[in-house]
Amino acid sequence: MRLGFHVSISGGFSLSVQRAFELGCTCMQIFCRNPRGWTVKPLDKKDITEFKKLRGQWDIAPVFVHTNYLINLASSRPDLYEKSIEQFVIDLERTEALGAEYLVTHLGSASGQTPQWMIDRVSSALNMAMKLHPPKATILLENTAGEKGDIGYELEQVNEVISRLQDSSRIGICYDTCHGFAAGYDIRTKKNVDALAKKIEITVGLERLKGMHLNDCLRDFGSHVDRHWHIGDGKIGLDGFKALLNHAAFKDVPKIMETPKETEEDDPKNMKTVKSLIIRK
Ligand SMILES: [Zn+2]
Ligand SMILES: [Zn+2]
Repeated sequence: MRLGFHVSISGGFSLSVQRAFELGCTCMQIFCRNPRGWTVKPLDKKDITEFKKLRGQWDIAPVFVHTNYLINLASSRPDLYEKSIEQFVIDLERTEALGAEYLVTHLGSASGQTPQWMIDRVSSALNMAMKLHPPKATILLENTAGEKGDIGYELEQVNEVISRLQDSSRIGICYDTCHGFAAGYDIRTKKNVDALAKKIEITVGLERLKGMHLNDCLRDFGSHVDRHWHIGDGKIGLDGFKALLNHAAFKDVPKIMETPKETEEDDPKNMKTVKSLIIRK
């Protein structure tokens, strides 16, 4: 099973692979630039060559890139909407320049608008972005917790977005366990995990599930509050993760932890916890 963390790119992309390797990652996630600003520094060719060499050498795959946080593909503000599409394309180009397999994006939000309006809005944005830059990397739509004005908190909504795309051959999903739990997809028991697998199967289809964000949830089931927590220490708990990690539908899906990093010990501890839950046959 491929396991990894979201790691920092501070100091360069080649350093990010080094961080991942030191944490024992076999897959990883990064931002491809400062995630909270619009400005982009040109990519450093030497750094990228090194990045590719190291991930090859250490067999770290796949690499997930997460889009910039300012991008909102469902925005009701025309200027921000346009900018978001433009910036999404930049993230997609950088993902491909890095040789990363996947670009993970949230579907966006628009307070006061209906889900249907937002589904239209985000599918148009994705259609435009893919027209401007036909993707070579695969774009992964991430389910959300359903916080204020979010879209994509129900798998049916994610599926509806996909069904409106002119070309969905380069589209998959990244399922976040914390978001899903906060949005009402319980995974605390084997039965619940079965139900989630079934739900994914009948909506987007299991073949589109290319990655998972493995996060416990600090807040209650169905709270719609997105607060990631350490594996096993949140409201999902160890039994839930054990059921998920060993489920036939999910065991071969690469998993990235986006758990809190308050101390140096946090990532190693979460990795150890996850590994201890995997039943080896
Ligand atoms: Zn996530
Ligand atoms: Zn989150």
